[in-house]
Amino acid sequence: MKHQTASEPKRRNLWARIEQVLQQVEKPSRYINHELNSVHKEISEDLLRFGLAYPDTYEVGLPNMGLQILYEILNRREDVFAERIYAPWVDMDTVMRESGIPLFTVETHSAVSDLDVFGFTLQHELIYTNVINMLDLAGLPVFAKDRDLSYPIVIAGGPGTVNPEPMAAFFDAFVVGEAEELIHELVDILGGWKKSGGTDKIVLLEKLSQVPGIYIPAFYEVAYENSGLVKGLITSHGAPAAVTRRIVKDFSKIAVPARPIVPFVDAVHDRCSVEVMRGCTRGCRFCQAGIIYRPVRERTKDQVVEGIATILENTGHEEVSLSSLSSTDYTSIAPVLKELSDRYTEQGISISLPSLRVDAFSVQLVKEIAKVKKTGLTFAPEAGTQRLRDVINKNVTEQDILNTAKIAFQEGWQRIKLYFMIGLPTETQDDLQGIVDLAKKVVDVGLQTLDASAKSRLMVAVSVSAFAPKPDTPFQWVCQDTLEQFEAKQKFLGDRIRGRHLTLKWHNAKSSVIEGAIARGDRRLSDVIYRAWRSGCKFDAWTGEFNYDNWLKAFEDAGLDPNFYAARQRDLDEVMPWRHIDTGATQEFFKAEYENALTGELTEDCRTGACSGCGVCPNLDAENLLFGK
Ligand code: SF4
Repeated sequence: MKHQTASEPKRRNLWARIEQVLQQVEKPSRYINHELNSVHKEISEDLLRFGLAYPDTYEVGLPNMGLQILYEILNRREDVFAERIYAPWVDMDTVMRESGIPLFTVETHSAVSDLDVFGFTLQHELIYTNVINMLDLAGLPVFAKDRDLSYPIVIAGGPGTVNPEPMAAFFDAFVVGEAEELIHELVDILGGWKKSGGTDKIVLLEKLSQVPGIYIPAFYEVAYENSGLVKGLITSHGAPAAVTRRIVKDFSKIAVPARPIVPFVDAVHDRCSVEVMRGCTRGCRFCQAGIIYRPVRERTKDQVVEGIATILENTGHEEVSLSSLSSTDYTSIAPVLKELSDRYTEQGISISLPSLRVDAFSVQLVKEIAKVKKTGLTFAPEAGTQRLRDVINKNVTEQDILNTAKIAFQEGWQRIKLYFMIGLPTETQDDLQGIVDLAKKVVDVGLQTLDASAKSRLMVAVSVSAFAPKPDTPFQWVCQDTLEQFEAKQKFLGDRIRGRHLTLKWHNAKSSVIEGAIARGDRRLSDVIYRAWRSGCKFDAWTGEFNYDNWLKAFEDAGLDPNFYAARQRDLDEVMPWRHIDTGATQEFFKAEYENALTGELTEDCRTGACSGCGVCPNLDAENLLFGK
């Protein structure tokens, strides 16, 4: 971290060198700047320079809602300049290394090493090697212990912080939970520190460790049993025994980002998104997001409608997405869609809902907003039989699915996507056969419902992913399927899901196995991730870039077995490596839910039914906030 001196601030603008190499790479517009709504400030020593990094390509990272919110919040402050950083694609990475160009920011093409803070979002485990690659490309020592305060402070937030241990060796600090309010406390400390000219990193980290929600991994030493299990933690430097997740209690107090950046290249989601609510309490037992964003906190109807109006004015986008974990559960969804439809349909602005409940209400909603385009509808039964859907607490019956499909076909859709998982706890051959049967029944409904000309275009696309158990869920103890089991199940489905109106797509089971091993890993996995990166692994979430053999070799070289982390049933009282990260939900709740799963007992959504006692509301002093009820 650069502290204030009488000298000029570092302003290494790398543009002249970057420009020279752009003709050698694909999509050069990933690396230029001045997109509409990007923020530019005069660099001075009074500014805290904050890098917001997404460890994947520009197109994948730019739409990330969390970073957009922080970008606006930080840049509203006069004492901070936040800039974006994305992972250069493989071709650019090579060219930069050959030409000696370090990792740079988008806004000013500054070297990242000139910043004060280098902050990452950890969205999933398969971008962890990209984090190390970006640290290295920036010219920073990748291990936190090797960096003094002449380097930026390296921090992370995002869902990966529920179990930060596999990445503990690389980060100085983790922000656990929602950062919209915490970020000001962080910036005040770091800005004050910069002005003070302090050079003792330990003292700075001690200050940070006192902020609720900030986890300093260097202050926690892990002890292991001979068996390799975690025995416990020894804390030092006055760090708290557990770090509790921060949340924004009233999400409607957080302004909708008014000026999202409009990219030059097509982003993954080239539209404006408004987060209508945070959290989901439907209680699907496999779902980590359903725990770590609780309780449900909505934005008001007016806030959403006016937020969209402002964004459209500021961006010129022609599509609006109402985002959340389950937007059809937003209690003001119908009036919001009606108002948006009244205001914008004639202007040709389309509205989309990223996730749909399996019910007629959802289809009717989508019908309202998709008057022109009927590209396809996606539903997620997740499992093929009622028994297994009860195990995972997916409160949907086969009749719901078939009725919903029928309404969709009646309303003119010809293409339906069904999303399933394989490898769920207690799954049997009958459950796999259930996926086949259900997909065929949906085809039959289509053939019975569509008229003769539409029938030829009927398509039911089945998408199957391989389940990876996640920390802080009722399935955190279960044994993940091995690669061989996943592949046998994929073959079973591949042999049976065939026919004129059916397609089958599955996700790479090898990457799910690695994802599963890292997700519930301990601190020793830092060595594995480092070795995997050293052997060339990066962009592991990209088919074509993922290298399973290199990952296996990295585990082997580190003396660790991926099956110890992925394919092992844990004892319910085992000390989990993430035990000191407190999301608010209790282990008693997870145990009770795991028992309920094994007996097929359903648990209600606490928005509409009884509180199921997950612990989040009392532990975080919060409650579900629903405005449209
Ligand atoms: S404590 Fe009860 S009401 Fe609050 S999120 Fe958990 S189950 Fe829902």
